[in-house]
Amino acid sequence: MTKTEIREFYRRLAAARPIPRTELEFINPYTLLVAVVLSAQATDVGVNKATEKLFALADTPEKMLSLGEERLVEHIRTIGLFRTKARNIMALSRILVERHQGTVPRDRAALEALPGVGRKTANVVLNVAFGEPTIAVDTHIFRVANRTGLAPGKTPFEVEMALEQRTPAAYKPYAHHWLILHGRYVCKARKPDCADCVVADLCRYEAKTGPAELIAARAAGAEGGPPVAPNPRRRRSAPAPATGRPVNRRRTPR
Ligand code: SF4
Repeated sequence: MTKTEIREFYRRLAAARPIPRTELEFINPYTLLVAVVLSAQATDVGVNKATEKLFALADTPEKMLSLGEERLVEHIRTIGLFRTKARNIMALSRILVERHQGTVPRDRAALEALPGVGRKTANVVLNVAFGEPTIAVDTHIFRVANRTGLAPGKTPFEVEMALEQRTPAAYKPYAHHWLILHGRYVCKARKPDCADCVVADLCRYEAKTGPAELIAARAAGAEGGPPVAPNPRRRRSAPAPATGRPVNRRRTPR
């Protein structure tokens, strides 16, 4: 894609979802970190179900350590790899207490040094909790970036580097969410909804679904700002005092 096309690509995704948010439920940076660790090879819906009661009991590393591994396991046993994840959550909570005064560090190296935290998780935490312009490449973003020609790459790291380089600065803070939501709800793995895609005319994917005229018409309609596609999971949110960025809050919070 050309620079102009990339800018237009993001402009349309931004118009469709002006303030996108993560679909994982969390209260603070610590619960976000735990939720992201739990979300590996699991759905956000499944993680949210499990964490609803868990975070009411343990929303800080200290409280998680008091809760203990066996009780943590009881809350997350519906999530895949729950024993390994429980072990990692207890270990990272201990490190946060011992080395970071019980807070989540705003630092990639320190985050990646935590058990169960890789580059993708660190990127999500840096972006969502601290407002850093990082782009975490998950399966949805990897697919969208490659299909569309926005940022092709053979590995998630290659795609991340390409996105980093090609995404205009103004769009970076929310790029992760726009791409992930586009991949989850429109550019789906098995059968993308090309006829409902606001970037269809910019996309280089050769196996687009739907009639070509319809795709072209939909995309042309997006020029003046596409109809807003409602996020299927409405959320309540409040600005985070520390960062000014939205923080999702659950039940009473959210
Ligand atoms: S046109 Fe189809 S393949 Fe391309 S981004 Fe849109 S949904 Fe995905």
